[in-house]
Amino acid sequence: MIPFDYERPSDVDGAIATATSRGSVAFLAGGTNLVDRMKLGVTEPELLVDLGGLPLDDVEELPDGGLRVGATVRNSDLAAHPVVLRDYPVLARALLSGASGQLRNLATTGGNLLQRTRCVYFQDVTTPCGKREPGTGCSAVGGSTRQHAILGASERCVATHPSDMAVAMAALDARVRVRGPEGERVIPLVDLHRLPGDEPERDTVLSGGDLITAVDLPPLPPGTRSLYRKVRDRASFAFALVSVAAVLRVEGGVVRDVRIALGGVAHKPWRATTAEEELLGGPATEEAFRRAAELELAAARPLSDNGFKVPLARNTIVAALRELSLEER
Ligand SMILES: Cc1cc2nc3c(=O)[nH]c(=O)nc-3n(C[C@H](O)[C@H](O)[C@H](O)COP(=O)(O)OP(=O)(O)OC[C@H]3O[C@@H](n4cnc5c(N)ncnc54)[C@H](O)[C@@H]3O)c2cc1C
Ligand code: SF4
Repeated sequence: MIPFDYERPSDVDGAIATATSRGSVAFLAGGTNLVDRMKLGVTEPELLVDLGGLPLDDVEELPDGGLRVGATVRNSDLAAHPVVLRDYPVLARALLSGASGQLRNLATTGGNLLQRTRCVYFQDVTTPCGKREPGTGCSAVGGSTRQHAILGASERCVATHPSDMAVAMAALDARVRVRGPEGERVIPLVDLHRLPGDEPERDTVLSGGDLITAVDLPPLPPGTRSLYRKVRDRASFAFALVSVAAVLRVEGGVVRDVRIALGGVAHKPWRATTAEEELLGGPATEEAFRRAAELELAAARPLSDNGFKVPLARNTIVAALRELSLEER
């Protein structure tokens, strides 16, 4: 690991000013991803700006019935929050399916959203990777692609985003509050992460000095149910091969609200808008769930080792919606 400087500001403006004072700066939250990358030589910041002294560790109930989650709220605390357990089970289940108890005790909301891909080539500095070193190519294309994307990839990068929490937040229409050198803005979570296109080195729409301060969760209409299903190689301590966050409201057998997000299949949490449009206003039947999933996955472009993700994603979408619709009866 290379030498680096360390600062621990006590207010948000101070953190942003410090972060823009040098060329190569990283915000340090729980450190469970950043410090690993520094040890591997993947990321080499000259300055770490520790967010631990900032007043961003609260979960606040909003007047509209929603929830504001501070950027440094720990994943364990968020998963155990009574309002999350009551109103957003999809989020509690997604959080609890990630990493391990010890890691969740350190990992934060902002850090979880901005963790970087687990593509093995990205983490191995001896191999070419255009995400790590722009313009060097992609070792995964023609290499091992079992964990990689089936949707929205480019020739330049076929990596997936590893977060479970972000997938649940995408299905919940969460909004990300960001403060940066130009002031404050709010970004829909589904627009925070990018598809790789020609610039795989850019994971998100954020720029240098941009600090996530909170994530807002809008309230769900009464009668809405939600869940998270994660399929992986081991029952714990493994990233998703495919995951599904589903939010569903059925009245009289008709789908009145549906939101589906997929994990493990793309460079960002993948909002399944084609499936949602197909389902909305139609019958909540297994046949309709299957047809909608197949329509969504018609855009899939599997790689040499991950064709199994297409039927796996279809079946996981159907199983998640079936479980939610059975709860309705
Ligand atoms: C063995 C292992 C297994 C794991 N399994 C899973 C899993 O199954 N599912 C899953 O979802 N995750 C998993 N993880 C990843 C884990 O969830 C992340 O490492 C963690 O959520 C990152 O949060 P952090 O606070 O530690 O972030 P850090 O490591 O501190 O930061 C991550 C990145 O975000 C930036 N950052 C942090 N906070 C902010 C902010 N507020 N504003 C702007 N930038 C910020 C940092 O600069 C850094 O680039 C696993 C990790 C390990 C090590
Ligand atoms: S898939 Fe993306 S992260 Fe992985 S080697 Fe290719 S460019 Fe790098």
